[in-house]
Amino acid sequence: MVILKKLLLMRTKKYKTIGIIIRLVLVLFIATSSCQMQQKKNINSVKPPPLTAEPLKYIYLTFDDGPLNGSENIDSVILGERLKISVFLVGEHAEKSKQLGTYYKLYEQNPFVEVYNHSYTHANNKYELFYSNPENVLADIQKNEKLLNLRYKIVRLPGRNIWRVGGRKRDDGTSGSAAADLLVKNEYKVYGWDIEWQHNASNGIPVQSVDEMVKEIDTRLETGNTFTQEHIVILIHDEMFQKKWEESELKQLIDKMRLHQNYVFEHIRFYPDK
Ligand SMILES: [Zn+2]
Repeated sequence: MVILKKLLLMRTKKYKTIGIIIRLVLVLFIATSSCQMQQKKNINSVKPPPLTAEPLKYIYLTFDDGPLNGSENIDSVILGERLKISVFLVGEHAEKSKQLGTYYKLYEQNPFVEVYNHSYTHANNKYELFYSNPENVLADIQKNEKLLNLRYKIVRLPGRNIWRVGGRKRDDGTSGSAAADLLVKNEYKVYGWDIEWQHNASNGIPVQSVDEMVKEIDTRLETGNTFTQEHIVILIHDEMFQKKWEESELKQLIDKMRLHQNYVFEHIRFYPDK
């Protein structure tokens, strides 16, 4: 009888010990899982950065034929607006007068402006004759490069919408193709344009309104109707901005394009070449 009691007591003690162990394990398990839940909560409370709804599109504002009367207005607008533009310069213009020489210096010192090559003579506006001799075209470009101390081998041919970028080419159906090929052989890149903001040659007044320009830019980018998709090169001429109200048109164009948060203004040096 005594032995039986002893046995029962031992069993009860054993069960008690097992019970304590089980309880301890349970407490540990609950503590660990609630800690994990807390950690998860913390991770969930850190919001991921908002995704850009639309892909980035690159705008290259390019101004041709400077320095000219009008260059000083472009320079001041760009300094005020703080956005990147590319200017294709004509050396002969820079040498024409002290005033135009000063405008060239304004461009050169403006941190938002990059200066590129538009030839020294601008073909003297006799394009057929100019392009009939590719070697002369190359020499004219090299002369301009030296005179204006141009850092990049980036060219826009005068009077021609011809492209030679990263093994891709486009001609505009006129002469100039052989000259462009010779430039490529000499490590130049040649840039045309996708859209031109046209102007009346006699008084410099823009043909398309600001709204028409913005609409065309938006449409071209949406439909991919550019030399490179998601990238658009816009041609504007310096002489369009000789008056204050035209200067304000340039501001309006910039303001309206800036309403698109996915539009990025870039220098032509960064145009994709692959
Ligand atoms: Zn030109």
